[in-house]
Amino acid sequence: MKNKILFLMAAMAAIFNIHAQNSGDTKIVLITLDGFRWQELFTGADSLLIGNNDYVDDADMLKRAFWRETPEERREALLPFFWGQVKKMGQIHGNRKLGSKVNLTNSMWFSYPGYNEILTGAADDARIRSNDKKPNPNTTILERYNNTPEGKGKVAAFGSWDVFPFIINEERSGVPVNAGFEAATENLNEREKFLNELQEQIPSPWGAVRLDAFTHHYALEHMKKEHPKLVYISYGETDDFAHDGDYQAYLKSANNTDALIKEVWEFTQQDDFYKDQTVFIITTDHGRGTQPLDTWRSHGGDIKGAGAVWMVAFGNDVQPMGEVGQEEQLYSNQFAPTILKLLGMPVVEDITGEPIKL
Ligand SMILES: [Zn+2]
Repeated sequence: MKNKILFLMAAMAAIFNIHAQNSGDTKIVLITLDGFRWQELFTGADSLLIGNNDYVDDADMLKRAFWRETPEERREALLPFFWGQVKKMGQIHGNRKLGSKVNLTNSMWFSYPGYNEILTGAADDARIRSNDKKPNPNTTILERYNNTPEGKGKVAAFGSWDVFPFIINEERSGVPVNAGFEAATENLNEREKFLNELQEQIPSPWGAVRLDAFTHHYALEHMKKEHPKLVYISYGETDDFAHDGDYQAYLKSANNTDALIKEVWEFTQQDDFYKDQTVFIITTDHGRGTQPLDTWRSHGGDIKGAGAVWMVAFGNDVQPMGEVGQEEQLYSNQFAPTILKLLGMPVVEDITGEPIKL
């Protein structure tokens, strides 16, 4: 009798699983960390930078927080959510020391071309050659999904960098983008009103990028209220602190972003709309240099290694492979078609990347 019940439960679970896969119930949270290196993701704090007074004010504090004997301990100290929970439930691609490679296909190796590739599924080196605020001639998957009956009004994007309304072509696409120093504007809850106030009162160190906590909480509040099926959150601090040459702030920001992503994940797992139906895909728009040492601050076509990136995936039906330790070559133009497939959408011709089977 007990066996029969177990069998029945397994059969029902299988049916529900198929149902969840095929009925277009899958929700996607796409996240990027601007210019966060694969080196820190897989080996934690860099031995040549963490005690270097050119880049760090308080080396003792920083070492207490993030220095450990082995790379495995260091990465876990830096990114406890990634290397604790995500390693168990998902996939972490891009450890080049193990042969797992993820690369950009664009040859620019800076932000607009990187985000264009991630969001459209194709590099466009002929037209996307600067970070200028020009409306993207290409169509992102956010726009494609927003143009379907299932996706209409169910897409939203949040970015710390003020160029996102152009990358996503907010005007043409109709996808709402809250980026840069924009406030939340529609049927505001108390938390959003407070965020709007704080955003005025906590100056950003930069002219074009806000602090990530604002982007994060605007996104989270919107998810609670509107339940978009496709959400894009772009955190930006890591790139700007690196350009500033501030390794201390770069590490602290990466550590904080790991906790922010954990918070988004935990929200989705206690919300009926998202629970057990949501896939997270996380990546970066470009790498940075390593040699000469000062090139850790930079990226672009002339910086060796800045085309090397990484990808993390977890959530509904994503195989728990952990850290990928076999030879593989993935490209950033594969994320958009992967997401379209998960959403049950056709992969159109303009897309050059092949979907990844997660
Ligand atoms: Zn940059």
